[in-house]
Amino acid sequence: MKIRSKVLISFISLVILIALAIELLMHSFIQPQFAELEKTQLQRDIRSVENLIAQEARRIETTAHDWGVWDQTYTFIEDQNQDYFNSNLYPELNDDLELDFAFILNSQGQVIWKLERFSLQPSVFLPANFWPINHPLFNQPEVTATGLAVTSNGPLIFAVSKVTQGKENDPSNGILVFGRYLNEELIHTFREHTLQPISINTVKSSEVGLKVSFPSNMEAVSQVLLPLFNSSEQKLQVTLKIPRELNQQALDTIHAVTLLTFFSGLILTLMVYLFLSRHILIPIGRLNKQAEAFGQDSQSVQFSDSKRTDEIGALFKTFRLMANKILSYQRKLVQEKDVFQQASMTDQLTGLNNRRYLDTVLYESVNNQEGVIWQLMMLDLDHFKQVNDHYGHDVGDKVLQQFSKILQGCARHGDHIIRYGGEEFLIATRDQGYDTAEILAERLLQEMAETPLGNSDNSFHKTCSIGFFCFRAPMLISLDDLERYISFADTALYAAKNSGRNRWIGIQAKNGKIPIDHRSLIKLIKEQNVDIVSSESLSQTRIDWA
Ligand code: GH3
Ligand code: MG
Ligand code: MG
Repeated sequence: MKIRSKVLISFISLVILIALAIELLMHSFIQPQFAELEKTQLQRDIRSVENLIAQEARRIETTAHDWGVWDQTYTFIEDQNQDYFNSNLYPELNDDLELDFAFILNSQGQVIWKLERFSLQPSVFLPANFWPINHPLFNQPEVTATGLAVTSNGPLIFAVSKVTQGKENDPSNGILVFGRYLNEELIHTFREHTLQPISINTVKSSEVGLKVSFPSNMEAVSQVLLPLFNSSEQKLQVTLKIPRELNQQALDTIHAVTLLTFFSGLILTLMVYLFLSRHILIPIGRLNKQAEAFGQDSQSVQFSDSKRTDEIGALFKTFRLMANKILSYQRKLVQEKDVFQQASMTDQLTGLNNRRYLDTVLYESVNNQEGVIWQLMMLDLDHFKQVNDHYGHDVGDKVLQQFSKILQGCARHGDHIIRYGGEEFLIATRDQGYDTAEILAERLLQEMAETPLGNSDNSFHKTCSIGFFCFRAPMLISLDDLERYISFADTALYAAKNSGRNRWIGIQAKNGKIPIDHRSLIKLIKEQNVDIVSSESLSQTRIDWA
């Protein structure tokens, strides 16, 4: 993977990780704290509704108490006088006292007077059922009591008061029962205080108390279960359903912060990426391309310079210096290679080419000259051993050097002169015709005859024998072919030796028939399918081809 992709992936991963971390942090710490705050608020809200119910109960109780300890009520139970009735028990009393009903019962539990807003189910307030006169409520030490009850008209807030003669501890002769339904009308008045929708119903439950729950992210439910006077199995359930604005705000904030982080992170990533790309990745890429091109062809690539003064600039400079150094080493190596190659193909004693030259340069040259007439000439000093024997090895060496000079002097520029081995030499010359070797051989014999060899103390003349083989170069020959053709020249040389030395003999494969081995050469010679040339008159000299 490229650094470019790695940088991009790393940054985007980092941004995603940060966004996730914020989301996690918000959900695991901040949102629960919001929820806790919400819970406290919800408990406060439901308590306030509970308080409103309690306040209403107290108000009814106070009214009942005021009427209960009023001695005129006591008297009214005794005599049911018209005055009391006319001045107190008028039909609009319910409205004035904000009650749904009012009952006056005597000590036997008989209803002496009642006023109802909504018709009650008879059984609800029949003493035997609901208000048994021996009920603890009527026999408690306190004058009044209050509570909640379940009726067929819905939940009810009620208060009872003993009817006494002005003092609380006096014996009573009856009771007052005042009540108000916990209906929509009343709840509506609560709404002014709570501002929340309140619903009231009865549920089966054995427990009482507060409960707050969050059924969804959008809504919270706060409930209180209140005990009912006339049912131990059922409870009055007051419910507030409150939209979770705080929670919603928290969630919105979380998402906004996460999104903001994510997008600002992305923009930052893009900016960092562009910066890295422009200042690091693109220059490195350029350097890499140049290095690649340099690796393929070091000669044609120039490492560009950078004006930058930072590490990238230093890198460019280092690469440039390195490339220059490599180039100079390369040049040196090439030069040294040439020197070594030259040395490896040069004979130490004579300075002429050696056999390795034959295998490489000469072979290549012969192979690339289709149609050219090659003339391979072998030369050997006659009785050279005697030089060593008579004058010493050093003089022998000198003679070899002198002989080399004569060869160089007689050969044309471009001819290949090779010390084939010992005192044997090879000259490979090429031309359009066949007579070049003849002319050269003749010149050489003449030069040998004219040139004194040895040193000032021991000067002498030596002769040499020459044999050559001429052929028209085919398109392709192998190294073996070349060596075979040389061996044909050698055959001619030995024929010259055997025929008396100090002479040359040449074999010219003029009609294109090139012998494949020594036997076929002798055969071709005997059949006169090759031309034989010599320094001596062939009619007078017999050539020994053995
Ligand atoms: P021929 O006419 O038959 O060629 O006789 P020759 O004596 O020249 O041939 P022969 O093969 O009998 O001897 C060749 C001699 O060349 C033998 C060897 O000592 C001598 N020789 C070969 N290489 C060198 C060299 O590098 N330096 C010297 N001084 N002598 C060499
Ligand atoms: Mg010899
Ligand atoms: Mg020899």
